[in-house]
Amino acid sequence: MSMDRRKFLKVAGVSALGLAGLPASRLLAADDPRFKAPADGLQGERWAMVVDLTVGAHDDAAISACHKIHNVPEHANPRHEVKWIWNTDYKHAFPGLATKHMPVQYREEHSALVLCNHCENPPCVRVCPTQATFKRADGIVLMDFHRCIGCRFCMAACPYGARSFNWVDPRSAANLDEPGETMLTFPTRSKGVVEKCNFCAERLARGLEPACVENSSNGRMLFGDLGDPGSDVSRIIRSKYTIRRKLHLGTEPSVFYIV
Ligand code: SF4
Repeated sequence: MSMDRRKFLKVAGVSALGLAGLPASRLLAADDPRFKAPADGLQGERWAMVVDLTVGAHDDAAISACHKIHNVPEHANPRHEVKWIWNTDYKHAFPGLATKHMPVQYREEHSALVLCNHCENPPCVRVCPTQATFKRADGIVLMDFHRCIGCRFCMAACPYGARSFNWVDPRSAANLDEPGETMLTFPTRSKGVVEKCNFCAERLARGLEPACVENSSNGRMLFGDLGDPGSDVSRIIRSKYTIRRKLHLGTEPSVFYIV
């Protein structure tokens, strides 16, 4: 590592320590357009997702739709894995909640679809020294890839493992069906940058719901505005028993699970 870069990261580290004590809300500049949804797209007060774990096993259609439209690279080396949404064991998704007294599917075989929780109190935002990651007014936690210096403080701060680091050039393993197919949908990232689920902010801006929800099997995923009491997500959360991941940490996830 060159001396200049080392110095830069040192300064970034000191900045992060200083910012870590601030509430995420203090880091938002109300007049910065980054923090507002585009006026002609879908508007919400607090976007949220509901995943129904009672519907069945993995939802590979939802995962592949997301990874395809966001050009998520598929590296052969698992150490270089980049993921925006994935299946994991129930016991890993909800540590402490999988007990021997639960139905067997929640103990052994069942998996949960997990992604960034777009936390109301996101620790990843608080530790970012460059504001490359930030929370929008509608609750979506986004990444500005150009501002990311690859310090990975956000990865250390996220208790859900929701962020991936590009150890190698992601363009070399872009998730394309055909050779020569262009990457039309979402900008590719570069080596040394962190990435994660963005609740399909680019699709919401065009009036579309997230790709995973649109492609999920058996209607197991719902997306909507928690700020609207009449939305489907508000209605489901009021009427069904739902859980959220590691709620005791106070991050207030926006992804709810029906179990
Ligand atoms: Fe940040 Fe992790 Fe919460 Fe997503 S799940 S907002 S990456 S802390």
